[in-house]
Amino acid sequence: MGINDIEIANRTIKITAAGKYEVGGRTVRLPDADFSKTIVFSPEEGELLLHKVHSKKGSGKMCRIIVTTEDSFRAASRYNEPLVMNFANAFNPGGGFRIGARAQEEALCRCSTLYSSLVSETAAAMYNYNAAFRNEGESDYMLLSPNVCVFRNERCELLQAPFKVGVITLPAPNRFGEAMFLPEKKIAETMTRRIRIMLRIAKNHGYRSIVAGAWGCGAFGNDARNVSAYFKRVIIDEGCGEWFDEICFAIYGAPESRNIKAFRETFSQYDLSQKPAEDEKNLSAQQALARLKKGNERYLGSRTGTGDISLKRRIECFKNGQHPYAVIVSCSDSRVIPECIFGAGIGELFTVRVAGNVMDDHQLGSIEYAADHLGCRLIVVLGHDGCGAVDAAMNHDPDGYIKFITDEIRKAVGDESDEYKACCRNVLHSVKTIESSLEIHKQEERGLRVIGAMYRLEDGRVEFDIK
Ligand SMILES: [Zn+2]
Repeated sequence: MGINDIEIANRTIKITAAGKYEVGGRTVRLPDADFSKTIVFSPEEGELLLHKVHSKKGSGKMCRIIVTTEDSFRAASRYNEPLVMNFANAFNPGGGFRIGARAQEEALCRCSTLYSSLVSETAAAMYNYNAAFRNEGESDYMLLSPNVCVFRNERCELLQAPFKVGVITLPAPNRFGEAMFLPEKKIAETMTRRIRIMLRIAKNHGYRSIVAGAWGCGAFGNDARNVSAYFKRVIIDEGCGEWFDEICFAIYGAPESRNIKAFRETFSQYDLSQKPAEDEKNLSAQQALARLKKGNERYLGSRTGTGDISLKRRIECFKNGQHPYAVIVSCSDSRVIPECIFGAGIGELFTVRVAGNVMDDHQLGSIEYAADHLGCRLIVVLGHDGCGAVDAAMNHDPDGYIKFITDEIRKAVGDESDEYKACCRNVLHSVKTIESSLEIHKQEERGLRVIGAMYRLEDGRVEFDIK
């Protein structure tokens, strides 16, 4: 039986205090940081920031903007210490977290150490002020919690690897509460001003990625078409997006929900992930290699897959057919996942997986198909260290069908006794087999290239120059 949200809240508070928890029979320690740390921004300080930090001083390059259907921390797990917006309650730290309520702020509190920052003595400045001036509606007070550690996923399961984010707590006007009788114009001004201040705080504190969302569009009743337009005005029209690498609007809910549709529509021109992937067609071998390297870099810094596996992408590939930009021949080893390693999504990589990445007619037929009919110009044989198949070929004498594989590897390895070098030799042997079988030299004018690469199981890096 599952436990309820109140019990989860209590456990989360205990974990935060203890700095550790048990999962899968192992103790996970939270990073050593002051989770209660809070930096308070009063409305006066916010006003000061608006005058001091000018949006015109950007990099000249607009950040990437994406709209996704996921919860805020799921989106945050893709970035290196991003700043996550907390769509906060203005009067109660954590909103209804302690009583099991289920809006975005409560979800953030259940999954992380955030609550201890919101109930800190420093943070009280915001709540006390808002309580005292309740009649005037909520204030521009904001809280920055720089040391929030996320340790649960959206199903509230404990994570094997917790990660750090910053959280900015800023209440939206509540159309069902204090802001009920505020004129539309005043609400527009207020929300736009708070977005301006929030992004200036993010810039000043060195954040490169922002996880925003349908701020105030849930329980507070604001219209997502309006709110997305306020974001657009500040990010695009005023140029504040140039301060960052990426802004993600993570909106939890069904892909067809009103909030998601509104944000998608507002940012359709800027959200590159919504554009058809024309550039993927017929990449040269060199372009494909550059893309693999970039994807591997992304993979090193991420906790979940970074490829596009959205419904939209699925439909796109269904309608337009597949145009993968590279063929990857890898070992079947469950730790070697080409799409993850290269940050690829649906329709990007044509993969052939076989234990020990050995070559036989079936594999060659698959590669030939991708090269001749799908237009792939780059073929990568991806080996890895600690390969069980290579080890079996070197140190054991397996029987059954496995022998077909180890015999092939033995041919490649010869008398090499170093295991890593043996794995490299095995890769290069497959490269040669592909080259000679497909008569690559005759195809070179078509720009076809076959290369070997090695994947490091522990650090996730792919080495492209192997000997
Ligand atoms: Zn292997």
